[in-house]
Amino acid sequence: MPKLNITPADLRRILCFVAEAIGKEEAYLNSLDGAIGDGDHGITMRVGFEAVKATVGALDASVTIDGVLTESGAAFMGATGGAIGVLLGRMLMSAGAALQGCKEIGTSELRVLLNSMETAVASAGKAKPGDKTILDAVHAANQAVATTAEADQSLPNMLSRASLAAGTAAQNTAGMRARVGRASRLGDRVLGHPDPGAVSFSIIMRAMAQWLEEN
Ligand SMILES: [Mg+2]
Repeated sequence: MPKLNITPADLRRILCFVAEAIGKEEAYLNSLDGAIGDGDHGITMRVGFEAVKATVGALDASVTIDGVLTESGAAFMGATGGAIGVLLGRMLMSAGAALQGCKEIGTSELRVLLNSMETAVASAGKAKPGDKTILDAVHAANQAVATTAEADQSLPNMLSRASLAAGTAAQNTAGMRARVGRASRLGDRVLGHPDPGAVSFSIIMRAMAQWLEEN
């Protein structure tokens, strides 16, 4: 029976599980970035989530949901450089700010979390959906939970929908040209290659959904 709510302790375990999932995909993420960038995306993601894992492991047992998210965002940003470090750091910290005072993550908190993450990416990166960035996957996940029919609203189901939507959106970025960031200078050469940041976000969502199904 999957969990229907995520406690702060669960969230810490989920972030460690995400760190493992990202670590397994390091080479794949580097290869995606190598096709349209400098090939270090997998390294950055692994290093960032290793810092998150170390940070959440050291938190006090009384830590709240927003505390876990805020500390994780600061850890990711502090351990990594470049645009993706700032973006993922801001996403986690914005989610922490939006969920201040909440005791667990249920369906409505998941909506708030993904919505705050989309707002953080959209305002930080100047990108719009369709620009071949991480925003494409975040937007798809946010839309998937925002439009879940009332009868289908459970946390495992909504996370599963968010994971599928993010995965599809990430793969769909292969057909897009980049309009912002370094890859925008490559024009048609980026066609056929998915955006590494969007793929990373889909891996994060997939790991979250998987953890919830299995625990
Ligand atoms: Mg790179």
